[in-house]
Amino acid sequence: MFDLRDLYQQVIVDHNKSPRNFGKLSECSHEADGYNPLCGDKLHIYLKIDDDGIIEDVSFEGEGCAISIASASLMTDAIKGRPVKDFEHLFDDFQHMVTSDLSEMPDDERLGKLAVLAGVREFPSRIKCATLCWHTMKSAVQGSDQPARTE
Ligand code: ZN
Repeated sequence: MFDLRDLYQQVIVDHNKSPRNFGKLSECSHEADGYNPLCGDKLHIYLKIDDDGIIEDVSFEGEGCAISIASASLMTDAIKGRPVKDFEHLFDDFQHMVTSDLSEMPDDERLGKLAVLAGVREFPSRIKCATLCWHTMKSAVQGSDQPARTE
């Protein structure tokens, strides 16, 4: 049987230990800061969006709990090379997933690996850790110079 909890833990541990796309982009078109005061997670996202609206490259730096780092790692992996429009759809899907009822199975066809983060629904105080990178990414895309905050 598919055990979401086991998978959730494995993936979080793996992405926290060796986060993907961690570091600074040498060339970026957009960037933003994000802060989750509840947990103390801090992220900075670098983006390179080309003239056709494709996310050519994305990376992040920051410090935070395992969930915030793993979530940023998974998110950057999921959106790299895709149109900004896809990011916006995924943002909504992800937001829906982490705030939906526990009985609702995540839509892993749309969310792919991101579906493992559905586990945070069991720990309401961690939901903001998981969504911080998404809010930070949205600020970067929108070119906001205000840091994204979860509060
Ligand atoms: Zn956190």
